[in-house]
Amino acid sequence: MAKVNYYEVLRVPVNAGDDEIVAAHHRLVSLLVPDLHPRASAAAKRELCEAVKLVDTARGVLTRPALRREHDSELGKPAPSEPPADPTNTDGCMICGSTPANHVVFRRQQGMLYRRRIWRVEGTVCRDCGRSVGRDWQSRTLIAGWWGMISLFVNSYYVLANTVELFGLFGLDRPDRDPATASPLPAPLDPKPPLILRLGPLFFVALIVVIILVNRAGA
Ligand SMILES: [Zn+2]
Repeated sequence: MAKVNYYEVLRVPVNAGDDEIVAAHHRLVSLLVPDLHPRASAAAKRELCEAVKLVDTARGVLTRPALRREHDSELGKPAPSEPPADPTNTDGCMICGSTPANHVVFRRQQGMLYRRRIWRVEGTVCRDCGRSVGRDWQSRTLIAGWWGMISLFVNSYYVLANTVELFGLFGLDRPDRDPATASPLPAPLDPKPPLILRLGPLFFVALIVVIILVNRAGA
């Protein structure tokens, strides 16, 4: 069986330092944790768990010098002290390795009158992986993000920013994956239903209608 290239899994160059490896690991785990994908099927959640394990192993190996040297020699690469000039290709989707891919940031919020919780993920993702995460987060922040004065303003920005990121993904071609690429998942995530068919936008429109009706009744 071909040896998995942990540099490709983490999308880091072969001469990456520990800080770069740890940062890549954090970015990937924050995109792959099954809690982030509430609509994923049981099989997809199992795949995500396996992907997190693979990413953990990659970090474990590449941050331990002895294991890293062994990994490098198995890949037929020179020792890290003599890095090759070409870094690992970092253009593809961090999750599935497909191209083309965009760099995106998605945000969501839970407003709770006097306080709020916020979440943020960032990474380079293909059209389908990006939509899978972005649509979930946009729908959830459209429901839970508004409650509280500060939350109301901040969430308006989050919804707008997520819309811009989703619109950017709309312009990408269908993901194309080289089977020889090592990546946490072997195929793009299921993008799942478009936003228009989800509860978030429906809830948001209903909220606006209620606000208008209450204002009219009070006028
Ligand atoms: Zn992808």
